[in-house]
Amino acid sequence: MKILLLGKNGQVGWELQRSLSVLGELMALDRHSTPCGDLSQPQRLQETVRALRPDVIVNAAAHTAVDKAESEVDLARTLNATAPGMLAQAAAEVGAWLVHYSTDYVFDGSGEKPWAEGDATGPLGVYGQTKLEGEQAIAASGCRHLIFRTSWVYAARGGNFAKTMLRLAQERERLTVIDDQHGAPTGADLIADVTAHAIRIVQQKPELAGLYHLVAGGETSWHGYASHAIARAREMRPDLGWKVAEIAPVPTSAFPTPARRPLNSRLNTEKLQQAFGLTLPHWQRGVDRLLAEIL
Ligand code: NDP
Repeated sequence: MKILLLGKNGQVGWELQRSLSVLGELMALDRHSTPCGDLSQPQRLQETVRALRPDVIVNAAAHTAVDKAESEVDLARTLNATAPGMLAQAAAEVGAWLVHYSTDYVFDGSGEKPWAEGDATGPLGVYGQTKLEGEQAIAASGCRHLIFRTSWVYAARGGNFAKTMLRLAQERERLTVIDDQHGAPTGADLIADVTAHAIRIVQQKPELAGLYHLVAGGETSWHGYASHAIARAREMRPDLGWKVAEIAPVPTSAFPTPARRPLNSRLNTEKLQQAFGLTLPHWQRGVDRLLAEIL
């Protein structure tokens, strides 16, 4: 199997370089690569697909800066909607599968029930809106595809929320963390492993093509996430000079941002688990593993 990976150095892209490497011949690109892997140049991306004729294209690249997207609407739309749509057209032409990632931000965050794949969307900002347009463009292209909506992604590589919280817990006595947004922190390694598994399965069962929710098990708030990470880190490394004495829960309104975020980011993963025979581990297992890796 010949696989073309785009966005190889992002959180998910980096882990995909590992998980996809056992499936076949892997060509991994970033925006500076030759042939072109730059999502801001969708026509050239199509040329890449036509030249390489992969069996599977995995697109882990995106405009992921949620607040910046509010003032970079055209760029966000090109990267998150136009480029995936044109990739999908090229995939259809050469008969390749397209695997793509989307987000809980396609929903408006109302209620408390975990969102199912068929629930009505209602993005609150440019990032969510353009990611939704990307999903729709892929579905409209007629290419065989898998789209995984995920949330609250972290990875050992690069910066992330847990690392920021651990640093602040060593610098400050009091932290304030949002407690009215709910979701599941999800490891890039989990996303990459599930992707590789699903790619193998759909080769035998193409009827499983479609849209799936892919997040770790359980749910929490940013406050619950931070509290867990700090408590576990203190157990693992009591020597690190922890200053924090209080982690205070605050509402989203305490941290005004250019983009509105959904309060309910819970995603129902039953469809994915049933279709692919998978069990998604509790989010705390992944976060504990992250801590063991970075501490
Ligand atoms: P990252 O921000 O870690 O990675 C995104 C990658 O896209 C980076 O490597 C970046 O490259 C690359 N990129 C940006 N612009 C271009 C371009 N013009 N051409 C090619 N590559 C480009 O994101 P994640 O790994 O976290 O996200 C993976 C997927 O998951 C995305 O589709 C995202 O929308 C989705 N997702 C992410 C969530 C999260 O919490 N992070 C939550 C829900 C969904 P460079 O490093 O050079 O900037």
